[in-house]
Amino acid sequence: MSSKKDQVIIFDTTLRDGEQSPGASMSLNGKIQIAEVLEKMGVDVIEAGFAMASAGDFEAVHEISKLIRNSVICSLARAKDADIEQAGEALKPAARGRIHTFISTSPIHMQHQLNMAEDDVFAAVKSSVSKARQYTDDVEWSCMDASRSDFDFVCKCIEAAIASGATTINIPDTVGYALPSEFGAFFKRIKNNVPNIDKAILSAHCHNDLGLATANALAAIEGGARQIECTINGIGERAGNTALEEVVMAIKTRSDMMQVDAAIKTEMIMKASRLVSSIISFPVQPNKAIVGANAFAHESGIHQDGMLKNASTYEIMTPESVGLTKSELVMGKHSGRHAFKEKLKDLGFDLGDNAFEVAFQQFKDLADKKQNVFDEDIAALISDHLVVSDNSITFKALDLQWCVGKKQSVVVTIEEDGKDQSAEGHGDGPVDAIFTAIRALVPVEASLKSYNVNAVTSGKDAQAGVFVRLEKDGRTTSGHSSDTDTLVASAKAYINALNKLLNQEKIKLTMSVQP
Ligand code: MN
Repeated sequence: MSSKKDQVIIFDTTLRDGEQSPGASMSLNGKIQIAEVLEKMGVDVIEAGFAMASAGDFEAVHEISKLIRNSVICSLARAKDADIEQAGEALKPAARGRIHTFISTSPIHMQHQLNMAEDDVFAAVKSSVSKARQYTDDVEWSCMDASRSDFDFVCKCIEAAIASGATTINIPDTVGYALPSEFGAFFKRIKNNVPNIDKAILSAHCHNDLGLATANALAAIEGGARQIECTINGIGERAGNTALEEVVMAIKTRSDMMQVDAAIKTEMIMKASRLVSSIISFPVQPNKAIVGANAFAHESGIHQDGMLKNASTYEIMTPESVGLTKSELVMGKHSGRHAFKEKLKDLGFDLGDNAFEVAFQQFKDLADKKQNVFDEDIAALISDHLVVSDNSITFKALDLQWCVGKKQSVVVTIEEDGKDQSAEGHGDGPVDAIFTAIRALVPVEASLKSYNVNAVTSGKDAQAGVFVRLEKDGRTTSGHSSDTDTLVASAKAYINALNKLLNQEKIKLTMSVQP
């Protein structure tokens, strides 16, 4: 039976829609690392960016096109010649490249955003798809805001897009407005009303504004969709996109009810989740389906009792199936290189020789301060390591000077362009004093939007994980770090966020309107 199932194409847009999450900017190096993991996971299509949006996006699509051989690489493009030319250019080195072009079909968007009449939009559909076909025979067309569009007009545009050469038709629920029954029926109606629909693959792109992104994606499959657009950890505009891990694990876990299968190596899910979370400095909420820290934790006595007797009593999927290994091997200061390497492999981290040596030294330093080094500690350490490798400013040292009443003074030392620089800061409490000192060293007018501390593991010698969010000119960046010393973690997290802000300014992200 199962061999007769259709394969659903997994189209990952972590690097494009995911990067549009406020504060989730990624460096080129970070994007490449994510693309490599997605390819190993078996993702069919990687949307690597929106080539026209910025020099940084163009470079990401271009570099990822050179490196990735097994997944199709896709660039987004508006229905404009210049966009499509840029996308075609960026995708040139790709083994298989796809151009994803889109235009809004809803009255609200056509009138208020595009300022175009229906006839003009219809003409643009045909010309943009034909133009894209000059660069590749793999062209995807999206009717932005489809779920709020006139149905007959959408059908007319889809028919024209296919006639012009589109091979994938994507139906986005751009604003996360659809309900599952309605969205599934929409796909069925399209299948029944567009005469040439058998010449294209239908795709769903859902947003989670009502918490329905995964439900809508599954309903779309039932309605005939054979491509799902999704992101790791469900990141994306506003409330995010369909989470890859949720839709894939639903397909696998309920294979008894699903007409499709997906060619994803699910054991790599945790690795991808950790990597994305560290690169964008967004913690995963503990109760997040599949990848949250509590997703496989059993707290109630009755549940624990059942689990001890037989795991299937309360577990619909195994932790191992998503790549969560049992942390029986606790590391400490006597653990050597070999054990550390094995542990990194278990956790899904793959470092080059030089990076491994640096990470091993950091692990030794940590083991000197902390009796037991748990998996979470090592994941935090590697995640810090990934962030710092893109920094031009790094943290060196922190000295608490004096404390009078609530007033505190500190000296912070950073390294910039190979030179050490120190500054003193005063404030109400040590964290305030540290941030003041850093602002004196790196004069960027950014406001602190949030500052969160959590314990990486339990125990009184646990590392502190600090998350910092900064805002400048309406744009947010996030930084995180961990250390056994909360103040050091705070300084490093703040510096990480500042580095991201500076990198972003160099790249100058220029656009934000995408499906
Ligand atoms: Mn979107």
